[in-house]
Amino acid sequence: MTRMLIVGPQGSGKGTQAKLVSEKLGILAISTGDIFRANIKGETELGQEAKKFVDAGDLVPDSLTNRLVEDRLSWDDAADGFLLDGYPRNRTQAATLDEILSRLGVDLDVVLELTADTDELTQRLKHRAETEGRADDADETVIRRRLELFENETRPMIDEYKTRDLVKQVNGLGSVDEVNARILKALNV
Ligand code: AMP
Repeated sequence: MTRMLIVGPQGSGKGTQAKLVSEKLGILAISTGDIFRANIKGETELGQEAKKFVDAGDLVPDSLTNRLVEDRLSWDDAADGFLLDGYPRNRTQAATLDEILSRLGVDLDVVLELTADTDELTQRLKHRAETEGRADDADETVIRRRLELFENETRPMIDEYKTRDLVKQVNGLGSVDEVNARILKALNV
């Protein structure tokens, strides 16, 4: 049974790796970004609330995001383990996740950090905008905003997880297979 987070800047390949790793471990992958995008597409109430933040590359307000994750983690399919992709993204969300997990009576096992440099990330995000048509990947200002948010909000959160000895760092540069092999090695699977 594994309960883990995958963290890294946008474009570091965490979505792709989250799917591969969760399949390999037989656990549920939960991507808050995917949930927001599906709701925006489906024009649900949640989608309408989240759209302006997602389009601008800003974080959706913590209250909305925390509620969404708390609800999703309470489903039966998350009981045997999960891999959270894209959440938490700041220290407030991390503190809320701690509370959610303690209410569920479970602990976090590992935080997997994918690393990559900014130039490579910007290239990847532009490529993804062309191939997947993600509006938030297309605009340079939005790309810069998201990378900036990662440095200012998410980095301090990762540092806190480091002090708790939960972080395993993996180099995110290279092919999908290469990075995946590094991750499985780091996780001893
Ligand atoms: P992602 O696919 O993880 O890059 O997420 C795409 C967008 O969804 C982000 O740029 C945010 O606008 C929003 N989002 C995803 N996860 C979160 C989160 N944990 N907190 C706030 N906003 C989020």
